[in-house]
Amino acid sequence: MTSHSPRGLIVVTGPMFSGKTEELGRHYTRFHIAKKTIGLCKPHDHRTGSAIVSRSGFRAEGTLLNSAEGLLSFASAYDVVIIDEAQFFDESLPAVVRKIMRERLVIVFGLNLDFQGVPFTNMAMLMAMATEPVVYLTAVCGKCHSTRALYSQRLTSETDRIVTGFANYEPRCLTCFEPPTST
Ligand SMILES: [Zn+2]
Repeated sequence: MTSHSPRGLIVVTGPMFSGKTEELGRHYTRFHIAKKTIGLCKPHDHRTGSAIVSRSGFRAEGTLLNSAEGLLSFASAYDVVIIDEAQFFDESLPAVVRKIMRERLVIVFGLNLDFQGVPFTNMAMLMAMATEPVVYLTAVCGKCHSTRALYSQRLTSETDRIVTGFANYEPRCLTCFEPPTST
């Protein structure tokens, strides 16, 4: 690592279908061209496997980590650390990132809100810690086609906080979002 290595924290958040993975690919490609070493990782308990694939064609393999604590040794090998699906890491993630971002650049991607419209704590904390303006992406509302959709509307009746699969969700704006009534 040279003295010119970037450091700090960039946070990219938004609902499902807001283009987070396209943004991930853009950052990845930029730092690749800049000849930085890039560590790409995601939490192991996430059910979609290690591949990170965007609709526009970016594809990379992420290292699956069992815990946020595991990030400390993982990050030590890289100039830039990219974390995908950060909302699914355990709650020690913000503290771990606070250590790593002093030495290297951390770029975090994750969902803003859960299916009830409640912030994911990891993301809310990381957004407060960001050293650059948070990139808050929006999607197109599945109901009224507003381009300001911030919510991930679950289309099934499951009540687990984590239910993956794009087919189970559609983006909704504040007006069209219908929080589950059972909770
Ligand atoms: Zn709408």
